[in-house]
Amino acid sequence: MAINPHAVPNKPGDDRLRCPKDGTLMEKLTIGGTKKLLVEHCARCGCLWFDPYELAETLQRQNAVEEIDYGIAKKYDQDVHNPLPKHCPRDQAELIALPDPRQPHVVIDVCRQCGGVLLDAGELKDLSEFTVGERLKAFFSRP
Ligand SMILES: [Zn+2]
Ligand SMILES: [Zn+2]
Repeated sequence: MAINPHAVPNKPGDDRLRCPKDGTLMEKLTIGGTKKLLVEHCARCGCLWFDPYELAETLQRQNAVEEIDYGIAKKYDQDVHNPLPKHCPRDQAELIALPDPRQPHVVIDVCRQCGGVLLDAGELKDLSEFTVGERLKAFFSRP
């Protein structure tokens, strides 16, 4: 397996994830509500990392999307032309790009190993316009 060049070991006790795109240490964003959610956010490129259940939860919360998707990235859209594989910040498995047939500019990166999802800034807003749940379910139920 290819090694993520950004996977520099953290200092002991530092459990922050590193952005799969630029290696920046990601900050945890709290989404309020009855059950708090912690979503990882890269302050540099604006991308968001969701653990498996977090994306579905986030999309269900009306204000959450506006709260956490800063949308910096419409400009920082190097992703489309960047052929370098990205790796899961948790287990370093290669992320699989899952373009959306209805919204070609939205490409979500999924980790098959842990089920985490990487979204570029701005994509969450677009995603929230329809349910992504079904597609992810279909993806993970493949043999
Ligand atoms: Zn980043
Ligand atoms: Zn993973």
